[in-house]
Amino acid sequence: MSKIQTWNIGFGRIGEQRELKFALEKYWRGEIPLEELEATSAQLRKRHWAYQKEAGIDAVSCNDFSWYDQTLDMVATLGLEPECFRSIEDPVARYFAMARGDEQRPAMEMTKWFNTNYHYIVPELSADLKGRVDASGIRERYAEAKAADIATPKINLIGPLTFLANAKRPDSPDQNSLGLFDRILPLYEELLRQLSDLDNETVIQMEEPVFVTDEATQLGLLIRTAYERLAQISPKLRLYVVSYFDHAVEAARILMQTPVAGIGLDFLYDEGRNLEVLTSIAQSSKELIAGVIDGRNIWRTDLDARKRLLDEIAKTIPAEKLILAPSCSLLHIPYTLRYEEKMDPKVRSYLAFATERLEELDLLNALFRGEKLSETQRGALEASREALAVRRSDSAVTDPAVRERMATLDTLRHKRDVPFKERILRQHERFGYLPLATTTIGSFPQTPELRQVRRRYKRGEITQEEYDRTIEEQIKACVEFQERIDLEVLVHGEFERNDMVEYFGEQLSGVAFSENGWVQSYGSRCVKPPLIYGDVSRPEPMTVRWSTYAQSLTDRPMKGMLTGPVTILNWSFVRDDQPRAETCYQIALAIRDEVDDLQKAGIGMIQVDEAAFKEGYPLRAAKRPDYERFALESFWITTNVAKPETQIHTHMCYSEFNDIIDTIEAMDADVISIETARSGNVLLRIFKERGYEMEIGPGVYDIHSPRIPSVEEMTAQIHALLEVLPPRQLWINPDCGLKTRGWPEVEASLANMVRAVNVVRKELGLI
Ligand code: GLN
Ligand code: ZN
Repeated sequence: MSKIQTWNIGFGRIGEQRELKFALEKYWRGEIPLEELEATSAQLRKRHWAYQKEAGIDAVSCNDFSWYDQTLDMVATLGLEPECFRSIEDPVARYFAMARGDEQRPAMEMTKWFNTNYHYIVPELSADLKGRVDASGIRERYAEAKAADIATPKINLIGPLTFLANAKRPDSPDQNSLGLFDRILPLYEELLRQLSDLDNETVIQMEEPVFVTDEATQLGLLIRTAYERLAQISPKLRLYVVSYFDHAVEAARILMQTPVAGIGLDFLYDEGRNLEVLTSIAQSSKELIAGVIDGRNIWRTDLDARKRLLDEIAKTIPAEKLILAPSCSLLHIPYTLRYEEKMDPKVRSYLAFATERLEELDLLNALFRGEKLSETQRGALEASREALAVRRSDSAVTDPAVRERMATLDTLRHKRDVPFKERILRQHERFGYLPLATTTIGSFPQTPELRQVRRRYKRGEITQEEYDRTIEEQIKACVEFQERIDLEVLVHGEFERNDMVEYFGEQLSGVAFSENGWVQSYGSRCVKPPLIYGDVSRPEPMTVRWSTYAQSLTDRPMKGMLTGPVTILNWSFVRDDQPRAETCYQIALAIRDEVDDLQKAGIGMIQVDEAAFKEGYPLRAAKRPDYERFALESFWITTNVAKPETQIHTHMCYSEFNDIIDTIEAMDADVISIETARSGNVLLRIFKERGYEMEIGPGVYDIHSPRIPSVEEMTAQIHALLEVLPPRQLWINPDCGLKTRGWPEVEASLANMVRAVNVVRKELGLI
């Protein structure tokens, strides 16, 4: 097997033209039969294998394809479907019911895959779990890859410890899912047994990203037990344990004492820490899969610098034991630059998407091993060096005005001058809202007609005036609706935005967009992250026009709606030629200007959404203080321009922030709205136990489902909130924006919400 020199950890599956997305959605709508979905899927697999093969990659995953998510595939393979889905006989229907819910059952929970914007389905395990292992799907994929002439089809499996650590135990939420180790391991053993007769030697990639979290320090014994047993299932299996996103020094040391064939480490996001374990890898004479091509960002690789890194590693690890790989699956970056015809060619030359990454990997391998380069490779190397040189001296990347402003940053890294206690009095005086003030998170339904109009506008088929008129009409109808049902703090509805980050990115300097740079976020959902390549600034106001128009239609407070700097940063591909913090501060300055323009234009409440604040947290605790500092400072820089009587709101769409509650309070937003409905109110107790002074709107209903919550239900929810927080501190709102919902549900749900508030206010003698 020493012939493996390059290894691809994983490839995307949604397709470079999002073919899988469209096929899935058609299938879900009943517009195409299963055979057609299967045909599209097979085509995509074949194409993706061909790309990897053509690029000269040796080890290619045969089963990184998935209809929804690879953790969910693992649930199905191990036969660990939650009880309520087991009655669905048809496996395809069962699979999609788990992913998306059906008439009788809600979908399984979904959450972010480590610190990425990819979401996986959370396995649900019970103490008496019984699996039913079925490797037939994986076996079919293996045969399919062989038939497509892939020399070393590699089988990707989510490793047992990551699978367990990512699972939950709904029947005993206080128990750690790792307690079920003894039940899960035999299922993995059985799975490997079922895979052991595929070939003379079959390569298995066990993915264990949990090894790069601090949890790894507690996993020692389990890691050893698991891999001692799994690596001995069959001499025909070669087991490689792959980690990514940070260093894995604790787990690596333990794995060296087990009979696994090799280990995969990320040498780009580890702050140099993985170098510490090279000696013990060398001593155990195992193979090392070195992640040296960036799988999470899209800037062209500095091949000479990477060769130096490899030479460094090769001082300890013999070159024949060294396999080159991307730092993680290429699922996290777009497919190809091939379709980017409209992009500024200079910016385009700075980039490498997944297929370009494969070429880089192959080229780097040739350089590292001192092979004679082909003509094409020599050309590619030259182009790469040239693009890097141009980028380093590109004046479009550096903006003197931004630099000048950045020099004054020290005067802005602080909370607002007037403390909250005083501010809030002035704000109550200004706005006079009642306790349990009602509002929404910002967006209202984006109908197919609206999306159609936007597409036509972007294609130049309708004029700016026509487009603007449509947006105004939508805003007007939305404001009228909110007044009609008697919401107190209104929003304009965000009809002009396709996406909360893209909308701002498109108007900022230093930010580029791809036409087709889609990345899977969950299921068939993809995002097209902005590319922040240069200094960021805001040439013109971005939202003032819409907010002031909306405000002109009503006497009620109209919240201005902005996306915060940390969220823009975390949902973009960020330049790698300066610290992320610097880029974040630049965005903060730009959004700060918008805050100021809004308040000058008479908008008294401004919401700065930080939906991605939490997902940016580094996986290792040691790195968190740095992140928290720049994230907090960026929020302050954005908002401390607000006058005391301007009310700053923020919104976060998750509820697991008990561990970061101090940071949330330190953000110093006057009002925060958060997700609560899905996660239960237990989490809110933290506010009571620890004391929290600012105003909070814990979502009273889940917007992720089309269900209309009843007045009684929401009244009960408000009562539950009142057990933890006094009425004066509470706002009442949904969990998140309403843009993916339909108007009829939204109208009914919000009307019920207002009714519920009135019931409670009467009880409290407030009205
Ligand atoms: N204001 C945004 C909206 O309502 C917030 C979205 C989000 O939190 N993801 O759509
Ligand atoms: Zn949200």
